[in-house]
Amino acid sequence: MRIGIDLGGTKIEGLVLGPGGVEKTRLRVPTPDASYGDTLKGVLDVVAELEKRVGTRCTIGVAHPGAVSPATGLIKNANSTRLNDRPMKADLERALGREVRMQNDANCFAVSEASDGAAAGLGLVFGVILGTGVGGGVVIDGRPITGAQAVAGEWGHNPLPHPTDSERPGPKCYCGRVGCVETWLSGPRLEQQFLARTGRKLRATDIGEAAQAGDAEAEAQMELYCDRLARALSVVINIVDPHAVVLGGGLSRINQLYSRVPELWKRYVFSEPELIVTKLLAPRFGDSSGVRGAAWLWPETKT
Ligand SMILES: [Zn+2]
Repeated sequence: MRIGIDLGGTKIEGLVLGPGGVEKTRLRVPTPDASYGDTLKGVLDVVAELEKRVGTRCTIGVAHPGAVSPATGLIKNANSTRLNDRPMKADLERALGREVRMQNDANCFAVSEASDGAAAGLGLVFGVILGTGVGGGVVIDGRPITGAQAVAGEWGHNPLPHPTDSERPGPKCYCGRVGCVETWLSGPRLEQQFLARTGRKLRATDIGEAAQAGDAEAEAQMELYCDRLARALSVVINIVDPHAVVLGGGLSRINQLYSRVPELWKRYVFSEPELIVTKLLAPRFGDSSGVRGAAWLWPETKT
């Protein structure tokens, strides 16, 4: 049996997957907001409770914000800053007496969708988070690619490709650069762009719905969004050439992305347009992908 833990800013979610990826039990507790030590104890308590429920020792995978630095073994780039510069993997392994696999939450999303989700059975999968931020993860044959700096898949901080004059130099990003993909494609940025163009304050998913209902201003905004998304993904396709791109995060609920973006990326991908077979897919597990992907960091052993 395999335990997956999703360590978030507000909650720690855990589940146990049995054979065939069947969920055995699930638990959700608030993330202690006091200190790193309390957060660590919170994770250990969830593991202990899950193992008590299923009555057996399990493998353990953890989805977390940021990444474990290959150079130092410490967590970096986490938005829950109390995790940064902490040796969480070593601390968990010492307390649990076994190897613990850890990956950032976007990588776990990609692993989940590539294992038994929307892209099951496809060899090369790029999982995308479109939400308050823009992230991603590359999975090959069910395994996440971490990389030399543990930034593989972080396309959100590439510059927006093929910028028009009005898109240069682009908005400032929290990472210190300007014009990052995230500054064009995150939910809050889509809402800002729409507000600036129309004076109307709508949530990102509502802009998508308004466009589908025939609202001309929303249609124009969504066409721009789809074109920017197609441009940004075309660069990823040219490098890793995935069989599927799976969208996650709040904006993955905008239906027209799945029809319009693959039409538009034909203009940008380095291939004969009619021969592009990369699929753009909606997620199967939605919000559960992080915790399921964490469990799938230990693939099923064939016995
Ligand atoms: Zn950036």
